[in-house]
Amino acid sequence: MSKILIVEDESNIRQLVKYNLEKESYQVLEAEDGLQGLRLAKAEKPDLVLLDLMLPQMDGLEVCRSLKGNQATAALPIIMLTAKSEEIDKVIGLELGADDYMTKPFSPRELVARVKAVLRRSQKEASLPGELAVGRLRFNFSRYEVHMGNAKLELTPKEYELLKMLATNLGKVFTREQLLEKVWGYEYFGDTRTVDVHVRHLRAKMAGDPETADALETIRGFGYRLRELE
Ligand code: CA
Repeated sequence: MSKILIVEDESNIRQLVKYNLEKESYQVLEAEDGLQGLRLAKAEKPDLVLLDLMLPQMDGLEVCRSLKGNQATAALPIIMLTAKSEEIDKVIGLELGADDYMTKPFSPRELVARVKAVLRRSQKEASLPGELAVGRLRFNFSRYEVHMGNAKLELTPKEYELLKMLATNLGKVFTREQLLEKVWGYEYFGDTRTVDVHVRHLRAKMAGDPETADALETIRGFGYRLRELE
């Protein structure tokens, strides 16, 4: 049974979410401010966190940053709950590594569907071997790190996820839309140039090893893939 932590100061939303998740047999923990949420996330090791943005004590972005910055909780999936007026914060949250977001008011049914999808994804990841070598790239999944030769690549969470998606599906071509859906993890309404920008940054960061950088191929009129490397 998966354990879900909801961090939300509005008790009616907390109750609604709790009711709907418990109906699906999830165990639900509640926190009503950011600090309490952070404490519970560390102490109780939930399988997923539903994180409101505007919170007393410590806001949702700070909680997200703290969880993603701590090795023990870095892999903990986060779905952010945002109000429409908080669009910009939502983008920052996703950059910080949140897995998905929902805009209030949301339907409980959709929330449950998103929770299931994010859990499915994270459980699949947990079953990956801890390390992977692709040419000169070496992934350490539990540490969220990639080394190229002896140098650690300094990647943003999304760059890391993108490279990992390509590396764990070596040779497979993905469309931009597929990458948006798999890496950004939600129906992305922005445009697919987001993917192009991230690929460009990845190539620049791997430029020290041209062969590796070149292996991240553009497939004209289709998308991208990481070619197999010796
Ligand atoms: Ca709030």
